[in-house]
Amino acid sequence: MDGTFSENDLSRVVAADKAHVWHHLSQHKPYETSDPRIMVEGKGMKVWDQHGKEHLDGVSGGVWTVNVGYGRESIANAVRDQLVKLNYFAGSAGSIPGALFSEKLISKMPGLSRVYYANSGSEANEKAFKMVRQIAHKRYGGTKHKILYRDRDYHGTTIGCLSAGGQEERNAQYGPFAPGFVRVPHCLEYHAADQGAPVENYGEWAADQIEQVILREGPDTVGALCLEPVTAGGGVITPPIGYWQRVSEICKKYDILLHIDEVVCGVGRTGTWFGYQHYGIQPDMVTMAKGVASGYAAISCLVTTEEVFNLFKSDASDPLDYFRDISTFGGCTSGPAAALENMRIIEDEGLLENTTKMGDYMLDQLRGMMDRHAIIGDVRGKGLFLGAELVSDRDSRTPAAEKQVGAVVADCMAQGVIIGATNRSVPGYNNTLCFSPALIAKKDNIDHILSAVDSALTRVFG
Ligand code: PLP
Repeated sequence: MDGTFSENDLSRVVAADKAHVWHHLSQHKPYETSDPRIMVEGKGMKVWDQHGKEHLDGVSGGVWTVNVGYGRESIANAVRDQLVKLNYFAGSAGSIPGALFSEKLISKMPGLSRVYYANSGSEANEKAFKMVRQIAHKRYGGTKHKILYRDRDYHGTTIGCLSAGGQEERNAQYGPFAPGFVRVPHCLEYHAADQGAPVENYGEWAADQIEQVILREGPDTVGALCLEPVTAGGGVITPPIGYWQRVSEICKKYDILLHIDEVVCGVGRTGTWFGYQHYGIQPDMVTMAKGVASGYAAISCLVTTEEVFNLFKSDASDPLDYFRDISTFGGCTSGPAAALENMRIIEDEGLLENTTKMGDYMLDQLRGMMDRHAIIGDVRGKGLFLGAELVSDRDSRTPAAEKQVGAVVADCMAQGVIIGATNRSVPGYNNTLCFSPALIAKKDNIDHILSAVDSALTRVFG
């Protein structure tokens, strides 16, 4: 830290925070007797809190966001230059960074052609859901309106997105939800056997479960299937072999739009520009947010095919025949300006290649740790998006206790290393440690994170 933060400033900030800030996803009772953590500064993969304590960030800003690392002056400069030129105009008009970033983005997404700007992952997903509903009205007299979503996937925090939410803890007490959202089973291979699923050809089998739901609901009522390419907060679930190919065939067979939620995987996290690109499939709609501008500005995008776009081309004789949607701050120019520079950095610094290399290394090392720690039941992930599922018994794959998982995260934090754990979704599935270091991570950063985890596991589990 640069030392400009005096003791006086510190106590004022902490007092103001405690008096007025309602922290996200937090219980505030503990702050009656202790202070909240306030992050002050960041550089590369490191962040410093109000006490000047240095943390190595193993989760890119806590929620898979700061893909290119902290303190990027070139992004700050690109945003500043754009803000003094033109900070905003409503998205019914175009902007220079909006046009240039869409061109760049589309160059990485063959088969897709249109970018709709918004601010958050939830918002981009809501817009995709609205498009599906409108297409149902325009083409099918309103019938093909249902949206399928998967157990353990998460698509955002609004009522619409929670209606498509597969994580119970996030949904509890927020209902009633929107109608027309239907859940399909997850595809977590590690738990196939203990949940009565076949281990042979599990990928195809899991995809076929989706087809069963489509047949039950009636294919002429189902408009879209919305899935994360690799499930994030629901357990770092990598798809089993054969899964995505079969899912894609099923969507084609029943004329169902395939909407892939790349809010976490998008823009490099898994070592390709987008997670779905590992699986040789072609989506109709893709949403993205976190890594698009690495948190330097708020931006999310919904990207569609030209075919989807053409369905909304206005017919002058029908005043309702266009996508009647706006996002006020989707017109902020800071987002695409930051996103454009963010993509340049990823390309020029070879960060996709680095992600694959460092991700493979970290995956191997975590698997190696299974020899020393029986508590690790499974290690999975793609690129720098990894998880280690903790189980109290490897044979039965019984989840480790939530308190102990939390104790590992807290122990790492005390050592100055930030890691995460999956959300408490279906009780018993909160037991996966999450790792998502910035795409700039080097071997010694990965080793540092792993050594903290190693000693935390020894301390907590012996
Ligand atoms: N989709 C996925 C897969 C996410 O993990 C999240 C957030 O964590 C969202 C959507 C929602 O994004 P936001 O918090 O930007 O609304």
